[in-house]
Amino acid sequence: MASIFTKIINGEIPCYKIAEDENFFAFLDINPNAKGHTLCVPKSEVDKILDLDESTYMGLMAFSRKIGKALEDAVDCKRVGMTVIGLEVPHVHVHLIPLNSMQDATFQHKVAMAPEEFEDIAKSIRSKIE
Ligand code: AMP
Repeated sequence: MASIFTKIINGEIPCYKIAEDENFFAFLDINPNAKGHTLCVPKSEVDKILDLDESTYMGLMAFSRKIGKALEDAVDCKRVGMTVIGLEVPHVHVHLIPLNSMQDATFQHKVAMAPEEFEDIAKSIRSKIE
């Protein structure tokens, strides 16, 4: 069965899209640690990051770097953290999280956002992509 992220990539489930290219897709995390929390995923559905072939792994890192730099420009934060966990969704994804304190990196503290706020942040991140 297709993963929830494959359904997002295929447009079967809505998302706040940030960017896509031939092999990768970025969108806002629906339950963010911090405003602007973004997920970068390969379009090929692989569960664990270390099981990616080297080219897809390197491509995902390059894509995440590009989106992460746009996120850093768009959102007021000390830095953007990159985390890979994958215990909830078995489809590789890099978390890009705007960090102001360690709490933002823990996944224990979530922020509520209205749909308009998701839209605004997504638009702002998109506008910073080079
Ligand atoms: P993990 O697999 O533990 O790295 O976490 C999966 C992440 O995916 C969590 O931060 C969820 O909030 C996020 N997530 C799950 N479903 C969706 C969705 N439909 N749209 C955006 N983010 C999602």
